[in-house]
Amino acid sequence: MEVPTVTGSACVMITERSLLVHCSANQALRCARIADRPGGGLVVSPHQRDEAGLLATAAYLLRQQNFGAPLLLDAARYAGQARLPASAPFNPRWLRRQRELGLTVLTDSGYVDSDDERGLAGILHRAAILPDVVAVLPLHPLWLRDRMHRAVLTGHIRAAGVPVALVLEAHRDPFALPGVVAGLLEVLRCEVPTLLLRSDISALGALCHGALAAAVGTVGALRHLAPKLPAPRPVPRPAPSTVFRPTLSYRRLGAIARAKRGRADPQLWGCACEVCDGRDVDWMADLPEREREVPAFEHSIRVLRQLREELLGEGVPAEASRRSWTARCVDAAYRSRELGWPPAPMLAHWREAAPRPVARLTA
Ligand SMILES: [Zn+2]
Repeated sequence: MEVPTVTGSACVMITERSLLVHCSANQALRCARIADRPGGGLVVSPHQRDEAGLLATAAYLLRQQNFGAPLLLDAARYAGQARLPASAPFNPRWLRRQRELGLTVLTDSGYVDSDDERGLAGILHRAAILPDVVAVLPLHPLWLRDRMHRAVLTGHIRAAGVPVALVLEAHRDPFALPGVVAGLLEVLRCEVPTLLLRSDISALGALCHGALAAAVGTVGALRHLAPKLPAPRPVPRPAPSTVFRPTLSYRRLGAIARAKRGRADPQLWGCACEVCDGRDVDWMADLPEREREVPAFEHSIRVLRQLREELLGEGVPAEASRRSWTARCVDAAYRSRELGWPPAPMLAHWREAAPRPVARLTA
């Protein structure tokens, strides 16, 4: 399948199935180092709602650091307790500033609630009349889970014909919810360039099934869109998790260390990524709490990038990518059970969504 492309007004284009890093502005300099490579790129959201700071960070990355991979700015007005609704107008200055920086322009969309078809249509319609923008669609999960909602969503996406960037709401992994994988695949069949923001391991599944780009968050809060709380209250920062490759899942470092004690198989625990450098992946559990987050993420993105190369490397046909992703999901579920962990629910959803092999008729 030909991958549609998204062009920015400058030279940097998203032309391949890119695995992006989604970070906040205060992490951008560190993440740029990891993300600036072919097949990579960076999505940056404001730190503490500071949009001016985000624009300054982007300018610095482009002009002082010569960042050469795709760079996208996500205003994230759809997130947090003060989120804007889908009906909120785009800020022309925000769109113009991205254009002035030579970036692919993302709309600063508000949140599309489950009953807000008018808001959904409004975002897509307003994006369609602007030149070269990607319509950000921050969606209640019902838009992908429910057949009727899905039909309405894909109808509006097809009618608008603009590139879209999905942001999916859930308390944890949106792809753990039944129907979300199937809904994503229907959106991908709309044949408009589609990006997935704020994601985790399912970013790989999305790329194998035709997404133009998918972004993996540095921290849990950037791996999904957290629902609005009924009343504002401080949310404790969870202990960092990291990707455990054999089970294709994010696991707390302590959980990995405990599982290893029961099964000291060096082939299972060792990691050759640049951060681990051959050590068993639970080495990070020995670091002081506040020092774990950075290596946990750097290991994760390197493992996911390696998987992207294996699944989508040059010369791998699209059909082979999809089959390989399905086979890995099946294997990861098996390995999870072997370790006594419940398999990540998204593994079964991706396996069930795989196209069935054509049955042979026998005489
Ligand atoms: Zn590693």
